[in-house]
Amino acid sequence: MKEIEVTKQKNKFPEKKGREEISIDFDGVIMDLFMGRTWVFSETATSPVGHTALRDIRDRISSLVAHIFRKSTAAMQPSLQSMSRRFELYLLTSRRSVTRGITLKWLNQRHVLKLFKSCYFREGNISPVEHKMRIIRSMGFDYHIDDSLKVIDMMSREFPKVRFIHFCTDGQTLSRQNVITVGSWKEITELFSL
Ligand SMILES: [Mg+2]
Repeated sequence: MKEIEVTKQKNKFPEKKGREEISIDFDGVIMDLFMGRTWVFSETATSPVGHTALRDIRDRISSLVAHIFRKSTAAMQPSLQSMSRRFELYLLTSRRSVTRGITLKWLNQRHVLKLFKSCYFREGNISPVEHKMRIIRSMGFDYHIDDSLKVIDMMSREFPKVRFIHFCTDGQTLSRQNVITVGSWKEITELFSL
């Protein structure tokens, strides 16, 4: 009979040699929600053929309007600065690529765009979760930070070796070996002793 080795993981993130890579969601993690919502049509997975141009205009306008009301999450800028000294940072958002310009401009105005090695936006008609899964599968990031419980739930099952940080704003949490729940950027920097 074959012996199965069981490795018991502790609920903390061990430090790895070399520069670790971390992908970070945008809405709800870097940019705060407004009245609990993004006010951006980032969840639209599909649209009837022929309406792409209209959808693009709608997404651009909704992003621009949303940006008027929404601010950075507390301590986002200094935290990203500290994190960039230890990690390679990647932006991984389910926002569609038509909002790339608006989003990057916002990041640049807050002096954090330069901290990201690459920024991944959603192309085509794949779902937000599938988009994030594709990028994580191909890039093999060490960590991902996201405020969506659905995203954290699905991805932490799919990628047991990736460590997930759930940026929890609504009190709904998930208990899993590769998930740690935080409520702020301060807690993230404390988690990594930055
Ligand atoms: Mg989000």
